[in-house]
Amino acid sequence: MIPCSFSRLNVPRLAGAILLAAAAFMPLSRAAEPLRVVTLHTVLTEIAREVGGDAVTVVPLLRPGVDPHVFEPAPADMRRVREADLVLAAGLGMETYLARLRRDLPADRVVEVGNRIPDPVQVCTADHGHEGHGHAHDHDHGEDDPHWWVAVDPLLAAIDIVTTELAARRPAAAPAIQTRAAAYRARIAALKPWAQAEIARIPEAQRLLVTSHDAFRYLAREYGLEVQPLLGLSTADETSARRLADTIELIRQRGLRSVFAEASANDRTLAAIARETGAKPGRPLCADGLGGQPGTDTIEGMIRHNILAIAEGLR
Ligand SMILES: [Zn+2]
Repeated sequence: MIPCSFSRLNVPRLAGAILLAAAAFMPLSRAAEPLRVVTLHTVLTEIAREVGGDAVTVVPLLRPGVDPHVFEPAPADMRRVREADLVLAAGLGMETYLARLRRDLPADRVVEVGNRIPDPVQVCTADHGHEGHGHAHDHDHGEDDPHWWVAVDPLLAAIDIVTTELAARRPAAAPAIQTRAAAYRARIAALKPWAQAEIARIPEAQRLLVTSHDAFRYLAREYGLEVQPLLGLSTADETSARRLADTIELIRQRGLRSVFAEASANDRTLAAIARETGAKPGRPLCADGLGGQPGTDTIEGMIRHNILAIAEGLR
């Protein structure tokens, strides 16, 4: 039984007043807290930290050296995602679990950075095993290549995208975010002329990257290299006998000096190709993000490592 004195209170009005007060208070208190950013890729962890500074708390779901193609979030990861203000994904299909992760979240909570990078590389997937190289592809049945972080221009675009998102979500910190972004951007941009000079030292016929999976097309486009990967866009793909034979023939035709395994993969096929053709195994490349070793655990280190491994291996 409700006491008479209680019934005289205007309960809906009281509740409304409390809600209004809470609504007025909450955004202010939350706006002063660091933005909670969950990152689904190692390069996005660095970009969010460098650009966001003390305006963000970055929670990485992937450690350097982990293969993002086969990563699956654990229940604890899903909890971190639900508590985040912003989730940064590599996009372009890299996170195969993303639809499942998005299901319980507002649409604007997840930003697929790669999807907003201009001019993504298209890969012909319908005929991969018989694909030629060195000729133009203008198929319309291509698939977007998700490996945008291996080259400088798409990295700069990603820095701009993350900067816009962080500044919009923490307007009071926007000037500081933009200042940090400008300094960071300049550091990454300086890698491109250095890389161009390194690649220019490789004889033209040798500017061909034989790699394990198909991860270096953005780098190839930026520096005028050809690519001949054994596998498709994912490390989970398999190669074909035809692809192997074509690759061996191509290495012999060009007298190619090196083929390139990946830092995080077991490349017995590539090692066998090297033995068969006399090409040397080059230093393993970072294909899918930051490496787990000192020197490759930053974006600058990763780009320098890849470019030097390629330039030294092929000239
Ligand atoms: Zn990959």
